[in-house]
Amino acid sequence: MKLIDGNKIAQSIIESLTKEVSKINGPKPTVAFIRVGEDPASVSYVRKKQKTAENIGIQSLLKILPDSISQEELIEEIEAFNDDSNVHGILIQAPLPDHISETTIFNTVKPEKDVDGFHTLNIGKLCQEDPSGFVACTPAGIVELIKHSKIQTEGKHVVVLGRSQIVGKPAALLMIQKGLPGNATVTICHSKTQNLEVITKQADLIIAAIGRPNFVSEAMVKEGASIIDVGINRIPDSSKKSGFRLVGDVDFEAVSKKCDHITPVPGGVGPMTVAMLMQNTLNAYKNQR
Ligand code: NDP
Repeated sequence: MKLIDGNKIAQSIIESLTKEVSKINGPKPTVAFIRVGEDPASVSYVRKKQKTAENIGIQSLLKILPDSISQEELIEEIEAFNDDSNVHGILIQAPLPDHISETTIFNTVKPEKDVDGFHTLNIGKLCQEDPSGFVACTPAGIVELIKHSKIQTEGKHVVVLGRSQIVGKPAALLMIQKGLPGNATVTICHSKTQNLEVITKQADLIIAAIGRPNFVSEAMVKEGASIIDVGINRIPDSSKKSGFRLVGDVDFEAVSKKCDHITPVPGGVGPMTVAMLMQNTLNAYKNQR
């Protein structure tokens, strides 16, 4: 079994971005974060993204808004960043309160500042394999992990668990793209999929993004398959100061014994998501110069 070290791969990307940013004279790339409410996971994700930006030399701004904000008011806040030529990338941290439509909000961000890759135009460009669009950070990070680990995808069967707009669907699209990594035969599974185990057992590569702790068991995995575990699940653990620990969607202990490559949680996909956000921000900056 080969452990895919997401921290190490993300760090090498961050180092090369840091070098590139240090060569920029004048105003630095700038990303604006909008956080609505005080969800602890959102607070922690945004803090981590800001810290990484700072380390690279990318400037970041943070707008914190109350849960009670209306959709119209939130749209006004986004439009102010859209119109600000000193801001190159905009990220609205999900989840948003129930009275706000995430699709409407993501589509309010100017496509050229959409460093999260959630705007309809950028999703369309991904479908068309148009490299001028932004690819969502987590799926883009998955591709980098596959590349760095030299996992073969051409002609292989990739099974994606989960069909969300932000992970499952774009990850599947990337795996069927013409080129490498890509050229795979892809099956997308979701909560209504029947005989899931029969499907996952055929997979050469499983990308698990369902949000169910330790869901993928040893019995669901073929000997020698590779595993990308996207899930981040908090489970109670009284031995931890925080009272919880993070586990993925895959039963790492059992599955790692029979697979070829596997990502740990934490330390697999998570750091890559942040690194790809920084990459997208630098690209947004370059495109707007
Ligand atoms: P969503 O809740 O949006 O989507 C989950 C998907 O999993 C849905 O398509 C759902 O099916 C499917 N699903 C749920 N239960 C099952 C099941 N028993 N069998 C098969 N499919 C199932 O989640 P996200 O895509 O946003 O996130 C998935 C996981 O990845 C979460 O743990 C999240 O925290 C993590 N994540 C990690 C990131 C990182 O940087 N590492 C970034 C983003 C997410 P249906 O559509 O039918 O409901």
